[in-house]
Amino acid sequence: MAELLKAIKGMNDILPPDSARWEWLEDTVRALMRRYGYHNVRTPIVEPTALFVRGLGEVTDIVEKEMYSFEDSLNGDKLTLRPEGTAGVVRAINEHSFLYEGGKRLYYIGPMFRHERPQKGRYRQFHQVGVEVMGFAGPDVDAETILMSAALWRDLGIEIGTDVKLELNSLGQPDERLAHRAALIAHLEAHIDLLDEEARRRLHSNPLRILDTKNPAMQPVVESAPKLMDFLGEASLEHFQAVRRTLDVAGIPYRVNTRLVRGMDYYNLTVFEWVTERLGAQGTVCGGGRYDGLIEQLGGKSAPAVGWGLGMERLLLLIEELGKGPAPRVPDVFAMTLPGSDAPSVVAALESLRAQGVQVVLNPLGKDGPASPKSQFKKADASGAHYALVFGPDELAQGKVAVKPLRGGGEQVLETLSDVALWGPRLRAHRS
Ligand code: ATP
Ligand code: MG
Repeated sequence: MAELLKAIKGMNDILPPDSARWEWLEDTVRALMRRYGYHNVRTPIVEPTALFVRGLGEVTDIVEKEMYSFEDSLNGDKLTLRPEGTAGVVRAINEHSFLYEGGKRLYYIGPMFRHERPQKGRYRQFHQVGVEVMGFAGPDVDAETILMSAALWRDLGIEIGTDVKLELNSLGQPDERLAHRAALIAHLEAHIDLLDEEARRRLHSNPLRILDTKNPAMQPVVESAPKLMDFLGEASLEHFQAVRRTLDVAGIPYRVNTRLVRGMDYYNLTVFEWVTERLGAQGTVCGGGRYDGLIEQLGGKSAPAVGWGLGMERLLLLIEELGKGPAPRVPDVFAMTLPGSDAPSVVAALESLRAQGVQVVLNPLGKDGPASPKSQFKKADASGAHYALVFGPDELAQGKVAVKPLRGGGEQVLETLSDVALWGPRLRAHRS
């Protein structure tokens, strides 16, 4: 036998029935986006490496060690599989002067790539839903993006405050961060012997990220570090208070976590994460915040922006953990052809039923014609369908078909195929 080819480690196939959960999540997301007036954006999966280096910051986990980068073998261009969605969306809006006529509310759904150690909730190809609101500076849109993530949890059956918890912080503005940075470096230098290798390396290049460390040994140093919140000026504090007040009025519980910094350099003012205790170490389901400097940093005309990204695998794991999710997918109708029936007429009859919006699965005939009625009825039951359509040769010759309810009782009836518009819709009525 030929060698069995396998997928790349950390990159997963999504097959039925699991793919139905993905479709359900995507459908729920799209309905949510329409409720809030967000429009879909689709950008390439491959971008110039420089986009992420400039966009995310050189001293970040992603750029330092997680990117799938390669050279275009034809022209030597440096390319990267996108590790996140924001930089590409910003590039696209800049390239198309997309904010020329005013602000935009955008969302995307798609795969991202990071070279990490695969484990539960952490993969090398994973999928994000993201929203990006560009061109609006007020705290109302920060709150709007957070509230719509909360609405998504509700739509998915996830309880806010127990299954997922909201953590909120403000990173202030660049000048405020600079003042904090000096105090932070002084504090970390005073405890240099307690810092791990990565922290020492980042001490002068990206000290804020040290606060984000997952190393338990460093928690005491990090907990006693000067808080960025204490360095914020009046305008930044006012913005933060306005976001908090909106969440309070809307009844969304949260915890202010002054050590929340997020992975990318581009954030300012509001940052937030939705975390869960039910997925072990991979507890962050969704994270985001404001990034007012990024559009200009990537060559566009300065404009404020705010957004979030959520990990779909983690969200689906959480939903599974909670025993939630969509009902199993079953067709309305399982159609069977009895021996002696004219197969092309059966196939054509099913087309007119599907045109009525009825979900119909035909039991395939196979090379030797239909299987025995008994084995076909067994399959019909196993399919979970609500009705069986039985195409017998005599009935079919008279333009008729037997409709047999498989659940909820009811008698088998004979229907006229040319009248399908009259009885067809009844076969999907059980859904509503
Ligand atoms: P983490 O701290 O868990 O590495 P992150 O801060 O790197 O997360 P973001 O860049 O903010 O994550 O991405 C947004 C969301 O995407 C995360 O909250 C998470 O749900 C999901 N995510 C990030 N990396 C992965 C991955 N390798 N596999 C699966 N989901 C991921
Ligand atoms: Mg990460």
